[in-house]
Amino acid sequence: MQLQKHSAIAKVLDQIPTPCYVCEEALLEENLKRLAYVQEQTGAKILLALKGFAFTPLFDRVGKYLHGCTASGLHEAKLSHEVMGKETHTYSPAFKESEFEEILSISDHVVFNSFAQWEKFRALAKERVSCGLRVNPEVSASPADLYNPCGLYSRLGITRAQFRPEQLEGIEGLHFHALCEQNVDALEAVLEGFEANFGAFIPQMRWINFGGGHHITREDYDVEGLIRVIRAFRARYNNIPVYLEPGEAVGWQTGPLVASVLDIVENGMNIAILDTSAEAHMPDTLAMPYRAQIRGAGEAGEKAYTYRLGGNTCLAGDIMGDYSFDAPLHVGQKLIFEDMIHYTIVKNTTFNGIKLPDLGVLRKDGRFEVVKEFGYEEYRRRN
Ligand SMILES: *Cc1c(COP(=O)(O)O)cnc(C)c1O
Repeated sequence: MQLQKHSAIAKVLDQIPTPCYVCEEALLEENLKRLAYVQEQTGAKILLALKGFAFTPLFDRVGKYLHGCTASGLHEAKLSHEVMGKETHTYSPAFKESEFEEILSISDHVVFNSFAQWEKFRALAKERVSCGLRVNPEVSASPADLYNPCGLYSRLGITRAQFRPEQLEGIEGLHFHALCEQNVDALEAVLEGFEANFGAFIPQMRWINFGGGHHITREDYDVEGLIRVIRAFRARYNNIPVYLEPGEAVGWQTGPLVASVLDIVENGMNIAILDTSAEAHMPDTLAMPYRAQIRGAGEAGEKAYTYRLGGNTCLAGDIMGDYSFDAPLHVGQKLIFEDMIHYTIVKNTTFNGIKLPDLGVLRKDGRFEVVKEFGYEEYRRRN
C-alpha cells in the first residue's frame, strides 16, 4: 500500500462540510514540480489528461507548470480552452461532424483513431491544426482489462496491420496510449513495440505523443529512468519533440474525500452508513476494483472495532468495504478516504438522487475553502 504524503487535512477537519473532496494545493504543487523537472531535464512537454483530473479551481496552478491539456472530445477541449487557456490536444475514438468545426477552432493538435476518420476530416483539419494518428503498439501490461488500451480487440489506436503508409501525407505526429499506473520498465516495453512497428515512420513526423499512464508522481516511480528513456528516444530521432499526457499522476494523492457517519446498524456485524456512496462518489472501488484507504483505519479485525462501511443509496452493493478502528465509530464522526481526487470527481453521478460531494481546497497557507457546492439542481437537470 502506498504511503500518504503529508496531508494537512486534520487541522481543518471540523470546518469541512460532508461529503466533500478536498484538494490540497501544496500536494498538487509537489506533483507539478516533479512533472516540471521531467520537462526541464528532457525537453518533453507534459499535458494534463482531463479524463483523470478536471479540478478547475486549481487549473491556474496546473497551467503554471504544464503546457496545457489533453482532451477526448468537444467538452474536454472546451474546458481546456476556456479554463486553462494553454495548448489543447484533442483525440477522440471517433469525431462527429457536428462537433468537428468547434474542436478545430480551439485545438492545437487533433489525433485521429483510424484512417477512415483521417480521410473524412483531412481536408478540414490539415491547414488548421497539427494532425496525428493514434497507433496501437500492441504491447502493454495494464493491470486490468477495463483499463487496457492494447487488450484483445481494442478499438483504441491503429494496429500495424491496419496502418496505411501511403495515406500519411499531412500527418505530423504519432500518438500511443498504452499504460495504466505504470513505471518506466513498462514504458520501455511499449516503446520497443512502438518502434518495431512504427519506427520507420517516425523520421517523417514532427512530434510523438507517449500518452498517459505514467505514474510519475508515485513515490517509487523511477523519474531518472524516465528522463534517460525520453532523452535516448529523442536522440535516436533527431531530437523530435515528445509529449506526455498523464492524468492520474497529476492528481495522485492530492487529497481525500471526507464523509460523515449517519447511522450504525447491526446485522451479523456492525455496519456504518455514510453520507457518501461507493457507487456514485468513488466508483473505482467497485469497478477497478480496489480498496480505499481510510485514515487511522485497518483491515477488518486488525483493530478492536470492525465495521462494514456502506453508502447512503439503496443499492445493496454500495459498500466501501470492511474496516477496523481503535475506538467505536459514532454518529457524526468524520472519516477521511485517502487519495480521492483523481478519477473520482470526474466520474461522479447523481445516482439515486444522492448529493454530489462539494469541492474544497486546502490552500498552502492552511486556509480551507469550499469552492463548489452542489445540490438538488444537478440531479434535477439530468432527470
Ligand atoms: C486516460 C488517458 C490518458 C491519461 O491516463 P492516466 O492513466 O490518467 O495517466 C492520457 N491519454 C489518453 C488518450 C487517455 O485515454
